[in-house]
Amino acid sequence: MRVIVVGIPGVGKSTVMEEAARRLNYTVVNFGTVMFEIAREGGLVEHRDEMRKLPIGIQQEIQREAAERIAAMDNVMVDTHMLIKTPGGYMPGLPQPILMALRPDRIIVIEADPVEILQRRAGDEGRRRDADTVETIKEHLELTRMAAIASSILTRASVCIVRNPQNGVERAVSAVVEAMRG
Ligand code: AMP
Ligand code: MG
Repeated sequence: MRVIVVGIPGVGKSTVMEEAARRLNYTVVNFGTVMFEIAREGGLVEHRDEMRKLPIGIQQEIQREAAERIAAMDNVMVDTHMLIKTPGGYMPGLPQPILMALRPDRIIVIEADPVEILQRRAGDEGRRRDADTVETIKEHLELTRMAAIASSILTRASVCIVRNPQNGVERAVSAVVEAMRG
């Protein structure tokens, strides 16, 4: 089975996924890491948070190449984003051709409280996060849900919304595991 896990930066997506994948013996593939390897080899960026500032056309090329690599894998959970915040606007992380190539069975949306998201980002030393506000975070969360449903209609993948509050990681992991078993 192939599972796509999305969530805006700072929801705690990677933490929840690692544990769910361990329990179910799945491999986690981080879409951003695959893209970063491609972009770095091409001398385009030195830090993963520089990628979303590249011209959109270039991001799309790297995105396509990354998707080709990931589409060849099975029993995977793909750690990615429905919408990337670029200077040119929200760029779809899973535009239709890529979505169809990835053939997901489940789309899992991880969410958290906007204030907690801001706090998590502030404590995330290795990253160069955007200067968001509660309002812009709410917008990104809302649009992510919409994109998830649109993607489910195109692919037949079911959508599961999982909340990951502070001190609630265990419940979030259980919800992801349950969605994958169902
Ligand atoms: P992350 O570590 O999940 O925050 O991802 C790092 C970066 O990878 C993001 O800021 C994007 O630039 C890029 N990225 C991840 N997934 C996608 C995707 N599906 N399409 C385009 N860019 C992506
Ligand atoms: Mg992450």
